[in-house]
Formats: sequence, structure tokens, C-alpha cells
Amino acid sequence: MSIKPIRTCIVCRKSESPSALIRLTLIDGKVIPDLKGGAPGRGAWLHRDCAESAIQRGSFKFAFKQVKNPDVSELINFLGNK
Ligand SMILES: [Zn+2]
Repeated sequence: MSIKPIRTCIVCRKSESPSALIRLTLIDGKVIPDLKGGAPGRGAWLHRDCAESAIQRGSFKFAFKQVKNPDVSELINFLGNK
């Protein structure tokens, strides 16, 4: 028996296996999609469908424990390239 890794979406709080979620990291104040996994730093996980809500609500500020909202332009670019 192996223990399945479980991550929680920062927007809807649903628990999922990591493959169902996008991992985001904060690098130099920017929210960066970590598609390959393993990027350094604190990670935040969310559903792709939850990403727009996260941007609108400013969820990354809390997820990454920032004083102000991080730059989400890289994430918006990523979401635009469906
Ligand atoms: Zn979600």
C-alpha cells in the first residue's frame, strides 16, 4: 500500500491528487505555473477552472503569505494558451 499524495485547491478547497491540479510557485513576486513540478519555493495548487477566480479574489496573496497581491501576468498568459 502506498499513500496517495493529496493537494488542496486554494480556491475551492477540494482535495485532489496532484495530477488534477496546477502547481504554482512564487518567483520574484510573480505567480509562475510549475508544469513540470519540483520548482523551488512554496507551492500553491488549484484547478485550472479555479484559476480565474483565484486571480479575481486575490487568492495568491494569502496562499503565498504576501503583503500585496503578486504579479499574475505569467499565469494569465498561461491560461490564454489553452
Ligand atoms: Zn478548485
